[in-house]
Amino acid sequence: MPTYKAPLRDVRFLMNDVLDYPAHFKTLSNGELADADTVDMILEGAADLCENVLAPLYQSGDDEGCHFDNGTVTTPKGYKEAYDQYVQGGWQGLSYPEEFGGQGLPMSLNLIKSEMMGTANWSFTMYPGLSAGCMNTILQFGTDEQKNTYMPNLTLGTWSGTMCLTEPQCGTDLGQVKTRAEPQADGTYKLFGTKIFISAGEHDLTENIIHIVLARLPDAPKGTKGISLFIVPKFFVNEDGSVGERNPVFCGSIEHKMGIKASATAVLNFDGATGYLIGKMHEGLHAMFTFMNTARIGTAVEGVAHAELSFQGALPYAKERMSMRALSGKKDPEKVADAIIHHADVRRMLLTQKAVAEGGRAMIYHAAQLADKMTDNLLKGDQAGHDYWDDKLGFFTPILKGFLTELGLEASNLGMQVYGGHGYIKEWGMEQIVRDARISTLYEGTTGVQALDLLGRKVLLSSKGKVVRDYTAEILKFCSRHARNKQMRRFVWDLTKVCAQWNTLTIRLMLTARKDRDIVSSASVDYLMYSGYAMMAYFWAQMAAVALEKIENGGTEVPEFYQAKVQVAEFYFDRLLPRASGHAEALVSPSRTLTQMAPEHFSFDY
Ligand SMILES: Cc1cc2nc3c(=O)[nH]c(=O)nc-3n(C[C@H](O)[C@H](O)[C@H](O)COP(=O)(O)OP(=O)(O)OC[C@H]3O[C@@H](n4cnc5c(N)ncnc54)[C@H](O)[C@@H]3O)c2cc1C
Repeated sequence: MPTYKAPLRDVRFLMNDVLDYPAHFKTLSNGELADADTVDMILEGAADLCENVLAPLYQSGDDEGCHFDNGTVTTPKGYKEAYDQYVQGGWQGLSYPEEFGGQGLPMSLNLIKSEMMGTANWSFTMYPGLSAGCMNTILQFGTDEQKNTYMPNLTLGTWSGTMCLTEPQCGTDLGQVKTRAEPQADGTYKLFGTKIFISAGEHDLTENIIHIVLARLPDAPKGTKGISLFIVPKFFVNEDGSVGERNPVFCGSIEHKMGIKASATAVLNFDGATGYLIGKMHEGLHAMFTFMNTARIGTAVEGVAHAELSFQGALPYAKERMSMRALSGKKDPEKVADAIIHHADVRRMLLTQKAVAEGGRAMIYHAAQLADKMTDNLLKGDQAGHDYWDDKLGFFTPILKGFLTELGLEASNLGMQVYGGHGYIKEWGMEQIVRDARISTLYEGTTGVQALDLLGRKVLLSSKGKVVRDYTAEILKFCSRHARNKQMRRFVWDLTKVCAQWNTLTIRLMLTARKDRDIVSSASVDYLMYSGYAMMAYFWAQMAAVALEKIENGGTEVPEFYQAKVQVAEFYFDRLLPRASGHAEALVSPSRTLTQMAPEHFSFDY
């Protein structure tokens, strides 16, 4: 069973040496709160919570799962106590405003905390994660009264939240939402309908659950333009802020799932439940999309989390398990055979996991800085500033969510592969990681949907390729800064080629799409994966540049730490980046090979 150890050395390397978080914090209006001592305390405290409270519940939560009994849901043994500890530690309010009882720290610290929590126990992390989605909605779109009613307890964590979008007939295409909201004389609404797959929809961790629900008013236009957003509390809130009577929103059942079994996934029936409109009428979907970028990065973290945990499980096994002799000669001559870590193919698997976990972490920590700037502007009331950073983050979001969750799943599978047949046996804990990881490419927008968002909306429609031109221009600046460094030459050369190809592919798709609209769908996932490999290459090159400088001039870590960074970067450029070429070749091929076959000819048997 993998035991989780928070990768604090890597976290500090990224924060202090690669992404210069101390300087970044200075640019934020709440940045002075994130001084070195506070950041250190948060990292150490989160590591302690994750290693000693959450990780020990990971396997038992999977074994036991959640229990459903006549509308009530009980989480597995130990989850309530762990959640209480989480609340007592003030963890939910880390990056939420002080006026509601939070600590007002930059959002990035929340994301860094979530990565550790998610790696230690993804199912547990779903509960506070969904609350964050609810809190962000209320903060951004709620009236003062709504904020004052719900934010204090959500910030404390004594109440939790959900996001209720999906219905039986639609998950991706939310224009089909049927849940109806009937206006009442007192300005409230009565909601009728069924939502499915609602994470944290019912559970025993908190005294109230605040649902954010997409529903349609009687006179609403058809499709996505006719959906509004409502706050529906499980229990009404009394004048004095205490929990009142039950609102008729009931849990009909919970799903029996492949993984994340300790996270309750509920069917919720709204039987005339009272709801309060949040944001503007008919603009619910627009409101949801405005904070989707941060929510999706929250899910991208899952790719890193599962890659890291699976790597932590696979590494000690690869050092202990003996099998045959290394081709280059005996490595453990006194033993009956060599440890499997001496076989190049096992190293391929371990290095892939390490490259994905550490490369993905770098990508996410960078995106977290953009999220900080976006949130900072929002809190300052600077809408234009908010929109600027939201746009910047918007380019990263589908790449991070789609690419990192796909690679996280691959890395989890590789961890199981390192164990051979034992990886398939439950007690080792490696198959659980694969089962848990599988959901990450599905919810919060499937990989296909992320790919359409990237290529269709962000690259072609909104910016006519400018986002790629701007981003590759930044990479090329990095290349020219390091072009004279002999040890950086191979990274610089490959990155330069990738930048040229990324732009050429984008232009080619833009031209083809004028005649062939299907090309956007047929090329999109390959384009997303290409973009992911290209982006991760840039982050590995940045880490290599810092590591090489530290090897020469000394740093806070031992030289071997920096050496390993350079070696993983070399591995990435030699073994993973070449996959981008395959995607490049596939994405420019005509859409015809995907569209030509008639649906009835997919099979001749049925
Ligand atoms: C464990 C779990 C937890 C969840 N938690 C929540 C939650 O808390 N709140 C919530 O509201 N929902 C939640 N969901 C729902 C989840 O977000 C949806 O399942 C997901 O968005 C996909 O929707 P769908 O299942 O309806 O699939 P569909 O939309 O039916 O998609 C089916 C397939 O078609 C593809 N597809 C669809 N449209 C297109 C298109 N235009 N172009 C190309 N391909 C397309 C998709 O990529 C997918 O491969 C959860 C789901 C699960 C399983």
